[in-house]
Amino acid sequence: MSVDHGHFADLEDLRSFIGDCQRCPLASTRTTLVFGVGRPDADVMFIGEGPGRNEDLKGEPFVGAAGQLLDELLGAIGLHRSDVYIANIVKCRPPNNRDPEPIEIETCTPFLREQIRLIDPSVIVTLGKFATQWVLRTDVGITRLRGRRHEADGRAVLPIFHPAAALYDQSKRGVLSDDFKRLKVLLDSELGSAGADRGAEVPQSPAATDESRDADAPGAETVQGTLF
Ligand code: URA
Repeated sequence: MSVDHGHFADLEDLRSFIGDCQRCPLASTRTTLVFGVGRPDADVMFIGEGPGRNEDLKGEPFVGAAGQLLDELLGAIGLHRSDVYIANIVKCRPPNNRDPEPIEIETCTPFLREQIRLIDPSVIVTLGKFATQWVLRTDVGITRLRGRRHEADGRAVLPIFHPAAALYDQSKRGVLSDDFKRLKVLLDSELGSAGADRGAEVPQSPAATDESRDADAPGAETVQGTLF
């Protein structure tokens, strides 16, 4: 169970509370804590896994090659990183970009939860497996969940491939670009339909038929996660 540090007045207040964090082992190897960046009242919040080398040096999420791709994908749907909020599951770089350990995720969890509560985005976009599984509290893989509208506490969640994955696998670029188009439609639908059947018009990524489905094929299921 992660510790509940209570509610903060705003993001600055939360950032000051986190301070020069020494609460988990990542503190001893990081250069800079990467809190998050963007509009404090953004309609869309992107959640990645954890800072890489460039982010650790600069103190800002997604500033390396994956970040450049993220900026391009945002630009293609008329958004700039200053229009959205970007944060990570863990705020400090895991050494050699290894996966974050459960204790590291648990220690950072109250801070990310509080960022979500304060920003209160209409749509959360989870980048890759870690963020998707954290937000949706599921073990289902990203390939099955991506490109479809899920929910966490009634809030729309759109899982997409991590941009870093598309740097190594060109076939994922087209999928990412299609999922950003879905994000645009989803955002328009979420923002324009207060009280209406939210997400009803969003074109979902096609699900595989039962015959063709394997463990990695896109699924048809909608996951209901819990953030708080
Ligand atoms: N990958 C992430 O998940 N987050 C970053 O901030 C950079 C790369």
